[in-house]
Amino acid sequence: MLQRSSDIVEKVLASDEWPVRGSLGDLLLLALTEATHMLWGTAFDLSHLSWLLDLIPVEVPRTYSISNFSSELLPRTIDLTVGRSTFNLSSIIDPSQNTKGNGVSSGFLNPDPLSSLLNHDAGEMEPMLIGISKPLNFQLPVTHSTPIVMFAGGSGIAPFRSFWQARAAQTSGRNILFLGVQSREKLLYEEEIRDLVRQGKLELHVAFSRDRNGLQYNPSTKRMDQKSIEPRFIDAAIIEQARTVYDMIMPKRSGGHGGYLYVCGSVSVYETVMHGIRKAMYNCRNVTKSQAEELVSIAFSERRFMLGKCSIIIHLTSVSPIPQRRSRPNDLQTYSCRLNRSHQSRN
Ligand SMILES: Cc1cc2nc3c(=O)[nH]c(=O)nc-3n(C[C@H](O)[C@H](O)[C@H](O)COP(=O)(O)OP(=O)(O)OC[C@H]3O[C@@H](n4cnc5c(N)ncnc54)[C@H](O)[C@@H]3O)c2cc1C
Repeated sequence: MLQRSSDIVEKVLASDEWPVRGSLGDLLLLALTEATHMLWGTAFDLSHLSWLLDLIPVEVPRTYSISNFSSELLPRTIDLTVGRSTFNLSSIIDPSQNTKGNGVSSGFLNPDPLSSLLNHDAGEMEPMLIGISKPLNFQLPVTHSTPIVMFAGGSGIAPFRSFWQARAAQTSGRNILFLGVQSREKLLYEEEIRDLVRQGKLELHVAFSRDRNGLQYNPSTKRMDQKSIEPRFIDAAIIEQARTVYDMIMPKRSGGHGGYLYVCGSVSVYETVMHGIRKAMYNCRNVTKSQAEELVSIAFSERRFMLGKCSIIIHLTSVSPIPQRRSRPNDLQTYSCRLNRSHQSRN
């Protein structure tokens, strides 16, 4: 019925682009402008809407790392760091190509500042169903004095905030963070990081890929100094600290520090980090490519090298509340969610 009375529905159905970049909601909103009031009333007769449910796929749970540390077994609140996933809407739906579509969960948790979601009344908050798990393959070393090196790109910083908070709460070994973000504006937790750097509890080496307004860690003053640095990726920051990286990867029995290394971010972040690590090793000690591979493999086999996105992760199965915005408008945001213990489960 809608197909016959709406050009847009017809165009979408006839399109070669499949799946069409857009949501059912986008399509229905456009069809609403074309269909007559009577037709719309018949199509969306509240007593016969089962056809609509058939069109809506069941949502799978989304997973997010918990971005803060709490000594409580079941904390009342948790922080999440959510990067908004966006895509260009199909030109059939948005001929102007000015509007971006958002991922279901990240667009909800970290809505576009221009989105109508932001206008929701905080009083409309509803509980959400979550599950919590603690993956064993992405954990801090048991011995607090063991140094750690964290490599993060974009929202990959999420689990590391809980790491540095946990380590700062105790006397720990060196904590080194290599971070790749687009620009200074997108550097999250800057004040918290600077504070820890001043206290000697964190060393930050940052790479901005689209910003010359750089920051450089100064080990003698324990400060992050402003410095003009050519835009670069995380591998450049790693190569700059070749000696430190080499010592961390080398096992203690071979004269190294035997540090724990963690990489968190997209596949391309992982590849860039690994490229940086290998290059750092050749530059530092003139090791061959295969020797560098072997040293990295040893770190993996000793479970000192870990990949992933998780320290403790939560699985959001229903995302209804609009959580509290905690930082400036950005496509990477931090949120505090209040947990209702009756909705928690552990596995
Ligand atoms: C262990 C683990 C931990 C994680 N931790 C974090 C974390 O701490 N922080 C974080 O930000 N992320 C984290 N993630 C990623 C997170 O789980 C989600 O995958 C991410 O937020 C995207 O979910 P979404 O619902 O927003 O996107 P989805 O709606 O699932 O969409 C997936 C992709 O498709 C695109 N898309 C959606 N609909 C369409 C459409 N109609 N047409 C074309 N393209 C479309 C979206 O832009 C997105 O890029 C983690 C993942 C794992 C596995």
